Amino acid sequence: MDYYLELLEKNVTNAGGVVAFADTAKDASNYVTKLAKSRGVKSVVKSKSMISEEMSLNHHLEIQGIEPIETDLGEYIVQLAGETPYHIIAPAIHKSSEEVSALFSEKIGTEATLGIEDLTEVARKQLREKFISADMGITGGNFMVADTGTLALVTNEGNGRMCTSMPRIHVAIVGMEKVIPSMTDLGLFLRLLIRSATGQWISSYVTTVSGPKRSKDIDGPEEFHLVIVDNGRSRILADPVLRESLYCLRCGACLNACPVYRKVGGHSYGWVYPGPIGAVVSPMLTGLSRGKDLPFASTLCGSCREACPVKIDIPKMLLYLRNQLSEGTHYGGERTSGLIERTISTVCGRLLMNRNATAKVVKFLGRILNIFPKSMFPFLKGWTRFRDLPEFPEQSFIEGWRNSRHIGNADRRGDRNSRE
Ligand code: SF4
Repeated sequence: MDYYLELLEKNVTNAGGVVAFADTAKDASNYVTKLAKSRGVKSVVKSKSMISEEMSLNHHLEIQGIEPIETDLGEYIVQLAGETPYHIIAPAIHKSSEEVSALFSEKIGTEATLGIEDLTEVARKQLREKFISADMGITGGNFMVADTGTLALVTNEGNGRMCTSMPRIHVAIVGMEKVIPSMTDLGLFLRLLIRSATGQWISSYVTTVSGPKRSKDIDGPEEFHLVIVDNGRSRILADPVLRESLYCLRCGACLNACPVYRKVGGHSYGWVYPGPIGAVVSPMLTGLSRGKDLPFASTLCGSCREACPVKIDIPKMLLYLRNQLSEGTHYGGERTSGLIERTISTVCGRLLMNRNATAKVVKFLGRILNIFPKSMFPFLKGWTRFRDLPEFPEQSFIEGWRNSRHIGNADRRGDRNSRE
């Protein structure tokens, strides 16, 4: 990756662009806001970019008195609603057309009963004005082609192309894992991404940008800046088990396939990247202890792995992260379990390897729990607050099974004898 990033930097610079490497999300935000201030930028049009969500870029721009306007229709809706995206490729998928109509009525002053086509027309008119007046366009990038220094951008609304061509400054912000070796690889990656994201052969717009406007070009930006962001990706790259998560194309197919995501929705994950891949990358990008619950938000059914076009083994990574969180040493400083919890889990783990010993210990504990009132055991509160804890039976399941078979056999023998 380091080789291709250097090649990319060289080719973007040769084409007249400026490349900045940002170690953290804060560094990337600082670069963009400083650039905007120094160029007298008052408003910015943005095409959908998950990495700008990762940087909370809109917030940083607003602090500097710069107006950020999301131009992807879904992003525009969630921005008006003051929410965050619900899905990585369909940010407003949780909203019905009635809800969007009510939102437009409240924020823009349109009729409260508009249908989908009218709502789209309203957004189109609003955004057209913003495209014309904006000083800066900010985009993400689906791929960065190293051998030509080209940014590839996939959209279905054309807003990405407007952001890259209308304002006088274009800033593209990409994660460092978005680099691919050459133009000959781009076709394959586009097919993989688009088919898995929306089921199309090709999206309505695939835009490629190689630097700012040339002297003979009629339009295009005067300046092109490429901000390549690390923000924890090197840490993922250094981990042999998690490294493959950087293959992610952000197509969203694993979210659609995940039974947990489909039940709880994108906002429950608490950060930018929801769903199975979010449960892997969010703890790594934000800190393992901050995202400690996410690796457990999975049934490990494997649907995500089946749906993934680049076959990332997400269940394996989730199990690995669970292990690291409870007893791992790789991220020792961020382990969330205490010494007592780890000791209990080690002892229980060893005990469970021996069936007879486990049966004896469980039987002994069951007898104690049967003798004393349950309220004496505070660790049972989580269970007994809403339901009863039944009496523990004297026999284990295996003993009961053996006895019932023994009785059944004796009965059958008795029947046979009486018939004879
Ligand atoms: S992990 Fe795979 S399926 Fe999920 S978003 Fe990334 S590329 Fe798509």
